[in-house]
Amino acid sequence: YDDRDGVIWMDGEFVPWRDAKVHVLTHAMHYASSVFEGERAYNGKIFKSREHSERLIKSAEALDMPMPYTVDQIEAAKAETLEKSGLKDAYVRALVWRGSGEDMGVASARNPVRMAIAVWPWGAYYGDAKMQGAKLDIAEWKRPSPETIPVHAKAAGLYMICTISKHKAEAKGCSDALFMDYRGYVAEATGANVFFVKDGEVHTPLADCFLNGITRQTVIQMLKDKGITVHERHILPEEMAEFEQCWLTGTAAEVTPVGQIGEYTFEVGDLTREIANDYEQLVRS
Ligand code: PMP
Repeated sequence: YDDRDGVIWMDGEFVPWRDAKVHVLTHAMHYASSVFEGERAYNGKIFKSREHSERLIKSAEALDMPMPYTVDQIEAAKAETLEKSGLKDAYVRALVWRGSGEDMGVASARNPVRMAIAVWPWGAYYGDAKMQGAKLDIAEWKRPSPETIPVHAKAAGLYMICTISKHKAEAKGCSDALFMDYRGYVAEATGANVFFVKDGEVHTPLADCFLNGITRQTVIQMLKDKGITVHERHILPEEMAEFEQCWLTGTAAEVTPVGQIGEYTFEVGDLTREIANDYEQLVRS
């Protein structure tokens, strides 16, 4: 990804894509002092842009990184970066991290908080077979307790177990891995939230120890607007045997049907298709 034409917004300026570099003694590289956002633009407009900017600031604050920009400044910077990319449908990555400077240890309060925004094309998250039902592995790692780490921040450190779990899943021929949480309840995938359908009602894990996705919240509202009952609750893995349909939600994943998780299988049913279609309409409206 580093060898491309175009520009990246870095600390308030546009720099050529290939020159958007940092020093090896960047605090974030050593101590995971980094938070980010993944956003999608449709028809030249970032979906739920403001919500993403607000979450970025909250994530930075959770890691004790004072944000050098306001929501409005971030909004303007993202819009300008998207425009300069010339893309109408694109993925937008905003990143905030603790840079190099006076400190080179765990404490880094004197080092600058830096920010970058990059925009690139990104198709379906799980490839072209999106509507056929993704196959998921069950991760060996667990989503941690809120007493362990700031679980609601979209922070780089929380992705360490995501990367290793997804690598393992892909090596087994799966598209992703589903995490249980520290108590053993169903949690989320490595970059997406999960929903289940049974008897016309929807069940989704309570977001009490993982990212309450912007897409998750959007889809819950869409379901409620349709008069469909949504249960946000603790879900035991064994319950997956009884669920008929399953899908993932996320900015990158959008609404992706799931056909299998470990030993459990699901049909790509009518409600899954309807929600996937409705979401596609919504993001482009
Ligand atoms: N969980 C994790 C771990 C994620 O990385 C993402 C993607 N940001 C999500 C859930 C879904 O969040 P959103 O709908 O806000 O993209």
